[in-house]
Amino acid sequence: MRILTGLQPSGKLHIGNYFGGMQPAVQLQDQGEAFYFLADYHAMTSMSDAQTLRENIQNLAIDFLACGLDPQKATIFRQSDIPEVNELAWILSTVCPMGLLERCHAYKDKVAKGISANHALFAYPALMAADILLYDANLVPVGKDQKQHLEVTRDLAQKINEKFGEGTLTIPDAQIREDFAVVPGTDGQKMSKSYDNTIPLTGGKKAVRKTIMRVLTDSTPVEDPKPTEGSNVIALYKLFADESAVNQMIAEHEAGGLGYGHFKQQLFDAYWEYFSEVREKREELENNLDYVNSVIATGAERARTESTKVLDRVRKAVGLR
Ligand code: ATP
Ligand code: MG
Repeated sequence: MRILTGLQPSGKLHIGNYFGGMQPAVQLQDQGEAFYFLADYHAMTSMSDAQTLRENIQNLAIDFLACGLDPQKATIFRQSDIPEVNELAWILSTVCPMGLLERCHAYKDKVAKGISANHALFAYPALMAADILLYDANLVPVGKDQKQHLEVTRDLAQKINEKFGEGTLTIPDAQIREDFAVVPGTDGQKMSKSYDNTIPLTGGKKAVRKTIMRVLTDSTPVEDPKPTEGSNVIALYKLFADESAVNQMIAEHEAGGLGYGHFKQQLFDAYWEYFSEVREKREELENNLDYVNSVIATGAERARTESTKVLDRVRKAVGLR
């Protein structure tokens, strides 16, 4: 089985990325041939500062390793090291109806948030399809926000197979963990690097605590019972705490007498403990950038061996060769 996923270096990694993409990637690296990439072409759809992009790429590579991806088991590479992906994206674009892209939520949501849309943001699902199909991936662990893009990917692969021959492309499946499907941000909406509502995976203690204290709650007075349904604090606490601790927090909400500040402090403590190992590894890696860069270089070689095989097959099938 071949497993593939990517994360964008479009900003600091957040806990939604961790539970939606990174943690399942780490768990799956033992179960097949894993290909995990830093989606730098995709990041360019939402940012245009070269220095920041370079720094983000470096940071994301460090995060991959700090979170437990093992370069002996998984091929870790940078999307732009395999420029062939653009050729496959073009070929897929030729069978991609406009309506399919127009219906994509990620694009519509970003536009609704006032993020100005360029062609790349609109066409992003075609490039994402190429990312996946270029490596004959069978399984793609992602958060729920990517479900629709995975359906587009399957659709495009099927269209190619119908037009140019069965077996030209491998049809992948998404793996979405329902418990972690959409991690809410500090404003209660989907946590997203580009929405300024994130809780970072790692960061200074004071700064992250401050961010967690900002998590949106209602204005129930301290002495009153608090609603538990739809509570962002409880939803986030569930990521880090075991069932009995979560049940206790729920009971304390229902009993009243404790303010949101108290619950947010509990949330922060659980968060801080949960990522202590990642923070430690991160610090080590920051002082060993040569190693980080060598992992990415080796990954590019391994990824290219696969990508050229698949692209060759596609080129032949569609008549380019
Ligand atoms: P951007 O705002 O630039 O799109 P993002 O925060 O959505 O950034 P991506 O790099 O697009 O992050 O996504 C990386 C992975 O993290 C994907 O698998 C995606 O499904 C997952 N993911 C992103 N946000 C969340 C979230 N809030 N909850 C669960 N999974 C998420
Ligand atoms: Mg996204």
